Amino acid sequence: MTTASVNERIQLIVKGASSESTCSPSLADGPWEFDKGPVAYGPGASSSDLIPTGSPRQGALPAEYKSATEQELNDRIVAAKKTLGDKVVVLGHFYQREEVVVHADYLGDSFQLANAAKAHTEAEAIVFCGVHFMAETADILSESNQAVILPNLAAGCSMADMANIDSVTECWEQLEDLYGSEPDEHGRVPVIPVTYMNSSAALKAFCGEHGGIVCTSSNAEIVLKWAFERGQRVLFFPDQHLGRNTAKAMGISTDLMPLWHGRKPLGGNTAQVLADAKVVLWNGFCSVHKRFNVGQIEKARAEFDGVRVIVHPECPMEVVDAADEAGSTDYIRKAVAAATEPTTFAIGTEINMVQRLAAEYPQHNIFCLDPVVCPCSTMYRIHPGYLAWVLERLVAGEVVNQISVSADVAANAKIALERMLAAKPL
Ligand code: SF4
Repeated sequence: MTTASVNERIQLIVKGASSESTCSPSLADGPWEFDKGPVAYGPGASSSDLIPTGSPRQGALPAEYKSATEQELNDRIVAAKKTLGDKVVVLGHFYQREEVVVHADYLGDSFQLANAAKAHTEAEAIVFCGVHFMAETADILSESNQAVILPNLAAGCSMADMANIDSVTECWEQLEDLYGSEPDEHGRVPVIPVTYMNSSAALKAFCGEHGGIVCTSSNAEIVLKWAFERGQRVLFFPDQHLGRNTAKAMGISTDLMPLWHGRKPLGGNTAQVLADAKVVLWNGFCSVHKRFNVGQIEKARAEFDGVRVIVHPECPMEVVDAADEAGSTDYIRKAVAAATEPTTFAIGTEINMVQRLAAEYPQHNIFCLDPVVCPCSTMYRIHPGYLAWVLERLVAGEVVNQISVSADVAANAKIALERMLAAKPL
């Protein structure tokens, strides 16, 4: 088992000192290099997804942070955090690079981290090492006098960006025209909007406003049950795979889950198909989890007797079906932690998290199903250089890269988040 971080592995590959392969040698550059690119998310798993017009772009990072060594950046981050003390809390998502995670006061998934932010009312600044929608959620759930900072504004999420408020509103209007607004004999409205946590604050607010709800990958089934108690159908966005995998596990036929393609009338479906639908799935996906395939699972089974294959529900349905188990990042962590006998785990989720589990549990053989070293492009944009910069600006009394959700959007988004918590607290 290697103990090198994902970034170190990539550097070794690019230098020719490792026989592993990476999806893009440009990953070895600082993100300030790939932030210059105008159209795609940069090297890594979502490199071929286009950034929507209007997505935030990061300004230039001062040269001193680009030229500093990893050790220098590490020392500067430690010193800035020490000076700031309780005034700052640093949050790190499971998919962040190790060189950033070592500075995190909390490590978790997006919702766990938003709650960690909420618990630290003494912190004047919350530095969220994750992606844009996560920082928005932290801003919604934190106090109004706390500033939420995203170290690199270009750290979006290609999946979250696949659904925006205009395209979802347009879809909703077409569905309303088709379904009308009359409840059935059980009092259930024609359709309930459900958004995955991985979506903009505007879409969470849309759900709040239209009787809908937010879900995470840990509670998607509970949330869908909540929605079916109140609605005849669900419009699920942006991740088709989480929606399909969850509904299928609840016994809903995939024939009753049409895919909605934006820009096509009725999303490319007939009125009859939509009338029969139980779950209308938005055509979004995660480029990281889309990389996993059944061939990788077959190979792992052929090579390792008794291998336990666990994948994230953002993976395509055939991958989830071929795996032994599917669950959220939290589920995967707990499954590994609970294994009492030395076990081989083949895991289908982002490589930084898999690598960390492998280092944390050396008694097990833990590897990523994807043999190519290919981190999430947007998570990878949070480099220690950006973290050092935002923290040192805070020391100087300046808040940079603040993420602020407008009060009206935050209020409606909070309604949808609170419905999720009421459906069953996490
Ligand atoms: S792993 Fe997928 S869903 Fe998560 S931030 Fe990256 S692109 Fe978005």
